[in-house]
Amino acid sequence: MRNTAQGQPKTVVILGGGTAGWMTATALTAVFNPEQVRVRLVESDDIGIVGVGEATLPAIREFNAFAGIAERDMLAATQGTYKLGIEFVDWGRIGSRYVHPFGAHGRPLGGAAFHHQWNRARLAGAPVGPIDDYAYAIEACRQNRFEPPSLDTSRVESTYSYAYHFDAGLYAGFLRRVAEGRGLLRTEGRVEAVERTGDHITALRLASCERIEGDLFIDCSGFRAIAIGEQPGDAWEDWSHWLPCDRAVAVPTARSEAFTPFTRSTASSAGWLWRIPLQHRTGNGHVYSSAHISDDEAAAALLAGVDGDVLAEPRFLRFRSGRRRASWLGNCVAVGLSSGFLEPLESTSIYLIQAAVTNLVKFWPGAANGHAVLRDAFNSTIDLEYDRVRDFLILHYWLNDRPEPFWRERRETEPPASLRETAALFQSRGHAPSYRNGLFAAPSWISVMTGQGAPPQGYDRLADHMPLAQVISALQDERARLVARVAAMPFHADYVMRNALGR
Ligand code: FAD
Repeated sequence: MRNTAQGQPKTVVILGGGTAGWMTATALTAVFNPEQVRVRLVESDDIGIVGVGEATLPAIREFNAFAGIAERDMLAATQGTYKLGIEFVDWGRIGSRYVHPFGAHGRPLGGAAFHHQWNRARLAGAPVGPIDDYAYAIEACRQNRFEPPSLDTSRVESTYSYAYHFDAGLYAGFLRRVAEGRGLLRTEGRVEAVERTGDHITALRLASCERIEGDLFIDCSGFRAIAIGEQPGDAWEDWSHWLPCDRAVAVPTARSEAFTPFTRSTASSAGWLWRIPLQHRTGNGHVYSSAHISDDEAAAALLAGVDGDVLAEPRFLRFRSGRRRASWLGNCVAVGLSSGFLEPLESTSIYLIQAAVTNLVKFWPGAANGHAVLRDAFNSTIDLEYDRVRDFLILHYWLNDRPEPFWRERRETEPPASLRETAALFQSRGHAPSYRNGLFAAPSWISVMTGQGAPPQGYDRLADHMPLAQVISALQDERARLVARVAAMPFHADYVMRNALGR
């Protein structure tokens, strides 16, 4: 990398002002002062942004802390609401329903993880109900209530986490104000050419003929991937045989009574429908496989399922599942849709942007001789994040008992070996991955595996330590405690208005 005397980039140019561009801008302007690193951003108002990333994961709260964003300011500016998990309707089979919560199912009991005790009681024939009955976040979803978790880890109210829903266009605007307030220089214009010497980008050339030079270029240009997509060594890993949905249609509706603290995902004949409640409207969409249904059929299925007045014409989007083999090539780093795409089934794209930005700061380009090591560490970290999300999404499709051709193909398509192994271990004894970093640790696997009809056939022998009758009685107590405690929480709508917005 050619840059300053210290080997660090002095001028960073972000290409694109969607969620990825402005999250990157906000984070970099929080971490570096303008004397250290000058951050510029170029975006084209004519091209616009995707603007449909409306559901997030709890990790976004860490991003807010990292980027110096106050929750209340963000929710007020983005018509935001709270999110405790995702409800999956009709996924495992038509008529089924479960919630993937942000948080645990119960607390450890008798020396074993809670789900092992639940499963032991279930296998013994005790009427313990579904595992969903023991998650605080799920009970709050059922009762439409919300408040932040307790910081006292001895209390059951500490066993969950939360994220947000927000209007993606407003979110980009909010972050823009924050970043510009910290000295970021924004240029409006269309990039027509990327000037380079070998794998080193020297400048972006705009339609106005202005040249924007930089040391490090962050490609946030969305599916166009203007800068990274032309780098020598660029290669795409295609995952569409596992995740064949390649289109979406989205439509906003008027806010309805069901102001839920969760995203809903309802399986359809060839994909799935999302429902995301915001303060001022509800976001709805249908993600589908164009090989199985037409655009008109997809739009009709979407409009038939919405629960409020339609506010705009349906908007169609196209994509393909997969990722770049390397997000960082030369002095260009792809962040956001330019680095890859995985359908929004588990609301992971904004998380993947966050992972890219925080890891870019962590592995910030350094002295010339250390550059390759930092770049390779960044690329393998991002690969791992993508691969985990990929496997977890495929799991939802693979474990199904639906009759339509699309679903039959999904369960008959051989999954990645990594997924098959993790799923087999869970099914035999209920052992789920316990990653220390990143997405989809044990509660997520417990939720989706049991919710889609594949609960474990055995349990951890450590659970036998506690007499079964005692376990069953503890499960009943836990359930009663949850229901009563959640009933004392504010309703989600009230909490958003009174506590989050102070109205
Ligand atoms: P974009 O929003 O496309 O922004 C690209 C930017 O580059 C724009 O500013 C554009 O003007 C600029 N640009 C492009 N070409 C040029 C050029 N030549 N010159 C100058 N500027 C240029 N994620 C979630 O986390 N949760 C969700 O619920 C979710 N739902 C989704 C639903 C759908 C149907 C889709 C398709 C995606 C969803 N995502 C979701 C993903 C999310 O929308 C994206 O990750 C996010 O919006 C980031 O997009 P981006 O900034 O990379 O690209």
